[in-house]
Amino acid sequence: MARFVDAKCKQCRTEGEKLFLKGARCETVKCPISKRERRPGMHGWKRTKSSEYSIRLRAKQKLKKTYGVLEAQFRCYYQLADQKRGNTGENLICVLESRLDNVLYRLGFAQSIAQARQLINHGHVTVNDRKVDIASFRVKKSDVIKPVAKEKSEKLFKENYDDIGAAKK
Ligand code: SF4
Repeated sequence: MARFVDAKCKQCRTEGEKLFLKGARCETVKCPISKRERRPGMHGWKRTKSSEYSIRLRAKQKLKKTYGVLEAQFRCYYQLADQKRGNTGENLICVLESRLDNVLYRLGFAQSIAQARQLINHGHVTVNDRKVDIASFRVKKSDVIKPVAKEKSEKLFKENYDDIGAAKK
């Protein structure tokens, strides 16, 4: 499975904003974006005028990093969104949001999309009572997502859910 290998915080610093890739740490003062806005590299402070192309490129890169999707897969998602009726940008977000790893994260069963992906890859998740270990699985409205009926999986789901709930209070 291909994935981004750059350090997560470095990815945020490159984009100059929080992408919330590390779960609870992103909300604390330990987040490097809260400490400094400098981009990684020798010329981090250098200000350059943004062209129309660079603005669009950065927007695309931000989406890819946020959802942990690489170029080839992103291109497929774009084609899918383009084929649907309506606004392509909105369709693209809908397609990305329907990924199983993202849905688990949004439901509060994982602290980050990366953690949700790990839960899925390690076989802790079922959709409609069938084990699914593909993070890019597209979830539909009526699908039922549950942990695998094993003590370890249920415990992981519960711990994450409680931790996230406690952090929000
Ligand atoms: Fe990004 Fe989170 Fe790292 Fe902050 S702590 S830079 S939001 S990954």
